[in-house]
Amino acid sequence: MAEAFQRSDIDSSAGACEREWTRVLHHLKGEVGEAIFRSWLGPMSAERIDDSQTIVVAPTRFLRDWVETHYGDRIRALWRAENRQVTRVSIVVAAVNGQNGAHHSAGVESEGAHLHQQVPSHTESTVSLENAEDRTQPSTLDQRLLFENFVVGKPNEFAHAAARHVAEACANPVQTVPFNPLYLYGGVGLGKTHLMHAVAWHVRQHACDRKVIYLTAEKFMYQFIRALRFKSTMDFKEQFRSVDLLMIDDVQFISGKDSTQEEFFHTFNTLVDQNRQIVISADKSPSDLEGLQERMRSRLGWGLVADLHPTTYELRLGILHSKAEQGGHHIPQKVMEFLAHRITSNVRELEGALNRITAHMQFVGRDITLESVQALLHDLLRSCERRVTIDEIQKRVAEHFNIRLSEMTSERRARAVARPRQVAMYLSKQLTTRSLPQIGQKFGNRDHTTVMHAVRKIEELMLIDPSLAEDVELLRRMLQS
Ligand code: ADP
Ligand code: MG
Repeated sequence: MAEAFQRSDIDSSAGACEREWTRVLHHLKGEVGEAIFRSWLGPMSAERIDDSQTIVVAPTRFLRDWVETHYGDRIRALWRAENRQVTRVSIVVAAVNGQNGAHHSAGVESEGAHLHQQVPSHTESTVSLENAEDRTQPSTLDQRLLFENFVVGKPNEFAHAAARHVAEACANPVQTVPFNPLYLYGGVGLGKTHLMHAVAWHVRQHACDRKVIYLTAEKFMYQFIRALRFKSTMDFKEQFRSVDLLMIDDVQFISGKDSTQEEFFHTFNTLVDQNRQIVISADKSPSDLEGLQERMRSRLGWGLVADLHPTTYELRLGILHSKAEQGGHHIPQKVMEFLAHRITSNVRELEGALNRITAHMQFVGRDITLESVQALLHDLLRSCERRVTIDEIQKRVAEHFNIRLSEMTSERRARAVARPRQVAMYLSKQLTTRSLPQIGQKFGNRDHTTVMHAVRKIEELMLIDPSLAEDVELLRRMLQS
């Protein structure tokens, strides 16, 4: 009886802690936006120590440090607002993660002492790119893919910070391994390869004795299969197992091939055990990678998983400016804005458009105008056209005004939520082909007259309230891009 009582007591306290934490997170999400929230705050959890103390648990030290510096005070303030009894909130690193040696016993191949030997340190640069078997060739790292040339914006801020952190740690005379592996993922052309090259460059410039290997997963497979054929698997193993930093790009291509996975898994384990840094990229998160053995999947997620989100208009414009400047081209602002609006799929396409424009300027010798761009990029632009949905509008608008998405359909009439809702209705009318009743239905089954009223109201307000007009314009641009 007494035990049962105690038990439920503990449960309810844990439940209360969780509820408070959920509300703190909810506030933070409103304040920092979805992307940052997901990257930085989403992976945290909270536990109650006693009535006055809670801990917020971060999966890695890196995350802990970042959250502490950027959001520590805010978290404490918000928590106190939820529960005044809580006087102390500590942000701590989870006790068990990929770096504390807890994994040493699990599934690790032991192949004898040779694997643990230190390789002679190389004096020449040992960065190999796409060509790990031929280290006599000068490195073919792409000159342009430096941190300096990587434009940082909200969508890639986290991945960028993580990559920098790895690069700096690896270049440090006393090499440390902040998180292993660093797993970068995101859609095509969002900068994964760029970041990996940038890490390699950084290490090469600051610590040329480090052995760095960068290669695609396909290349890894190819070399492995070749080594099998020529019975030179020992060399193959040695080569990878003696690196300080191993970077494997596009790991999604390794899935499915059992023997290669096996080898990759062993290589991976050995390097992790020797405290060597591994950086992996893929187009999906570890849990979404298909055809991967379960143990491999879980291992990939051990370190820090950082995703690159789709670009925003601001980031695209920033990238265009940076690229045009690098190339020494003068491209009118209007043209840049136009491109940033219209070419939204990925950065590679944006670069392609810019290259076409600059080539055109050189060959034709004429300045570029908005009209000539449209003609020049006719095909590209057409493939980028897309329809905006009401769901998207609601999401963007809610994010922009820091309100919950559910307020779009809620009954609440407080101005703080009603106004954004009206903006969303207005934009739905403007940007979609939906009828007023259809729009009303998407906004919590409201009447079409409510939508009509909202549209008029926003039109009126935009005339007299420049800051609202600016908000709406910004949102329109974002949505249309
Ligand atoms: P991924 O490997 O994710 O498919 P890449 O790294 O190859 O993408 O990027 C595609 C192109 O876009 C590269 O030329 C890269 O330099 C450029 N790029 C991507 N993101 C950025 C960025 N944030 N700043 C500057 N260039 C970028
Ligand atoms: Mg790539």
